[in-house]
This record gives sequence, structure tokens and C-alpha cells, in this order.
Amino acid sequence: MLSPTRHTIRNALTIDVEDYFQVSAMVPYIARQDWDHTPCRVERNVDCILQLLDDGGAHATFFTLGWVAERYPQLVRRIVESGHEVASHGYGHDRASALSRKHFSADVSLAKAVLEDVTGAAVRGYRAPSFSIGRANDWAFDCLLEAGYRYSSSVYPIHHDHYGVPDAPRFPYPVRDGLLEVPITTARLLNRNLPAGGGGYFRLMPYRVSRWFIQRVNDVDGQPAIFYFHPWELDPGQPRVPGIDARTRFRHYVNLHRTEARLKRLLSDFRWDRVDRVYLGEGA
Ligand SMILES: [Zn+2]
Repeated sequence: MLSPTRHTIRNALTIDVEDYFQVSAMVPYIARQDWDHTPCRVERNVDCILQLLDDGGAHATFFTLGWVAERYPQLVRRIVESGHEVASHGYGHDRASALSRKHFSADVSLAKAVLEDVTGAAVRGYRAPSFSIGRANDWAFDCLLEAGYRYSSSVYPIHHDHYGVPDAPRFPYPVRDGLLEVPITTARLLNRNLPAGGGGYFRLMPYRVSRWFIQRVNDVDGQPAIFYFHPWELDPGQPRVPGIDARTRFRHYVNLHRTEARLKRLLSDFRWDRVDRVYLGEGA
């Protein structure tokens, strides 16, 4: 039984638009110079998502790589024409923590320029690949502000072996004057932050756990949730990357065939909208 907040609270739905061979865990196995020769699935998968959102009456924010926008400008325009927000996921999926301040600045400025050129609209949001902004590279927020971004969604307040700032605030907070950080949603249980905002956990855990976490954030915290997934997570037919380690293989391929049905339930169980409308109060 879902509570009445299902009808009142608008949650933020986000998609990180990158292909299966661009995820950080695949970096050791697929060289950057091979990207152009690897079969792409991103266009097919984003079109599938656009149909799902249309069927579910939901809007979302698509954090898109500059690399993808350059190769698939019509796809990015279809995202805008369907009423969704296009935001930035950087140009080439480099982790913020792996770049110097100068290179990070160049990456986020280039991605913003490419996306704005393709869409003809201002890009306000940025999400760091693999949530790679933390205490050690806090200067990244200065770069985002200088580049003209108004919000970031780059911090996940959990313990994880690849990312996470477990003691970061759980809900949106200003990181600079004019720049809001919108952290990925966690559920607070037994003095711990548990991942409630999607990604691999959404495929790993039974759907009812994800639903209960989001409902708890809406009901107990009285806050919208922000949830994310990737186009390749709906694609059980994607080419298998050979030679990867067992942990990466499990995390990347577990339950891919269940994602689409789970997303349909998620769209029907909660209200979903774009980040700019939910958190910047624009066009609400
Ligand atoms: Zn990413």
C-alpha cells in the first residue's frame, strides 16, 4: 500500500547518458581510442527510455556526455523535444578525481558548449562520472560555477569502494553561492545511509526494497528522492566485454533483463520530474 505522498511529492528522475563501454569499471578493458570502433547501443536504449517515460507520463533529466551529443545530435534533440532536461555528464567520462583542476575545467566547459550547441538551450546541471567529487577535489565546485552551471548532482553520501562521501548532507545544499549540490538519495536506517537512488543497487535488490526506501524518504524525511540509471542497464542484448574481472562482470550484468519492468513499476508508483523543476523550482 503506497502512502498519499505518492500523489503529492515530485521526485527527480535522472539518466546518465553513456554507453556500456564508457562506464568507469570498463576503463581497464576498453581503451579510449577504441570507443569509435565499438558497436554503440546508446541511441537504441535512449529511444527505449523516451518511450517508457512517455508511456508513464514522466519527465526526467538526462546527464549526457559531450562525446555522445557530438555523435548523436538528433538523439539529444529528441530528448529535448520530448520535454526533458538535458544536463552535462562531462565530455569523455573522465572522473573529476582523475583530472587536474585545469583539465576538469576544460572538460566541463567543453561538454556544456557541445550540449548547448546541439540543444540551443542553456545547460544548468552537471553530474560527475562515478560521483567523483569529494573532499579532496572540492575545487571542482568552483570550476562548475565558473563554467556557468547552477547545480551539481555529484555526491553520493554512502560507503562504496569506488565513490561516496558517507558523511555528506543527504539532501540538497548550497556548495557555493549560486551552486546547489543535489546528492543521490539515501535511506537512513540504523544510523547508516543506505543507497536508495538507483544504479546497480536497483538491479541487485528486489524492487520492493527500492520502493520502500523511496517511500520512506518521501514520508519520513518529507523530501523528494533523486534516482538515476543508465541506458545500458535496460539492454540485456548488449555485447559482452571479454576478459573482465568477476566483480565487474557481476555488477555490470546482474539482472539487466529485469530493469525495464522495474522501471515501469517505479514510474507508476511515484511521480517523477526533471531536476530543474524539482529542485530549482523552474517551470513547475
Ligand atoms: Zn557515468
